[in-house]
Amino acid sequence: MINVGEVEDGMELSHQLPWRMNQGTLHNLFDGGWSWVIPFNNHRNSKNNLVSVGLLLDPDKYSYNKNISPENEFQNFLTKFPSIQKQFANYRTVMTWVNAPSAIQFKSTQSMGDRWALLASSNGFVDPLYSKGIYYSMVSVSILAGNIIEACQKNTNLEPYQKAYNKVMLDYVTSNDDLVYYSYKSFASKKMYRLYSVIWLIGAYNEYLKLTTIRAFSSNYKQFNKKLLQLRMVGGGFKEFDTLENKIHKIMDKYIGGENSPEKSRASF
Ligand SMILES: Cc1cc2nc3c(=O)[nH]c(=O)nc-3n(C[C@H](O)[C@H](O)[C@H](O)COP(=O)(O)OP(=O)(O)OC[C@H]3O[C@@H](n4cnc5c(N)ncnc54)[C@H](O)[C@@H]3O)c2cc1C
Repeated sequence: MINVGEVEDGMELSHQLPWRMNQGTLHNLFDGGWSWVIPFNNHRNSKNNLVSVGLLLDPDKYSYNKNISPENEFQNFLTKFPSIQKQFANYRTVMTWVNAPSAIQFKSTQSMGDRWALLASSNGFVDPLYSKGIYYSMVSVSILAGNIIEACQKNTNLEPYQKAYNKVMLDYVTSNDDLVYYSYKSFASKKMYRLYSVIWLIGAYNEYLKLTTIRAFSSNYKQFNKKLLQLRMVGGGFKEFDTLENKIHKIMDKYIGGENSPEKSRASF
């Protein structure tokens, strides 16, 4: 899109942040989904006037209606959120609207065979909510490149590497899936999302910590790739984090099942 305004255009109260929101990627979270606004025109040296805009909806709450065009669906979304609508008062599209008639998530059952391997997003995809994609791609390229080099040196196929590669690739999708699922389910209540997002933040911090420490403690790519196999997308693979995450998911399940209110969940946290 072009001519997209700033989110502050529609805000009645100041968010009191020391910067304009268009200096970064904007996520609007709401019950049953979220939208992104990524400006490429937010820099004084920018030669690109495009703004990337997308809307993700939980099919359990917003079932697909083939009689509504993607643009009308977007317009319907805007009418529900007048403050966001103001940001889009003068937008123009520069490419054809696209939408997905069914859920976009998928997960392969196998990531590697004798002479083939799937890279990150072709192995599985959930939702771009937490921007994990390039990290996932880099990890899969790094492990796979190491496997191919070693297989060539030993004059073998990829069979000996299948089990470990499958596990790390599929675990990445599963952990992102959990994170996205519980986040969507908590969007209906600001209190719940505030609580649940702590898992995302602690998870991302631990993941980064593990990644940087395994890099620091590896003296060659072989060692680094071996250690990469222990890395987990959320929480880095630290057992203590996994224990905490399991406990929090149980609290979330009770909230989702209607057994616990946000207040009661907060006390359990
Ligand atoms: C809104 C949004 C925000 C994101 N933010 C982040 C972020 O902050 N950080 C992050 O790490 N990740 C982010 N991601 C995810 C990231 O963009 C993807 O993980 C990454 O682009 C995947 O790279 P890829 O090369 O595997 O696939 P792609 O970038 O999808 O590249 C695949 C290419 O193959 C081409 N192609 C497809 N089919 C064919 C064909 N049959 N023949 C020839 N070419 C073909 C496509 O046109 C495309 O150019 C975000 C994604 C979205 C949607």
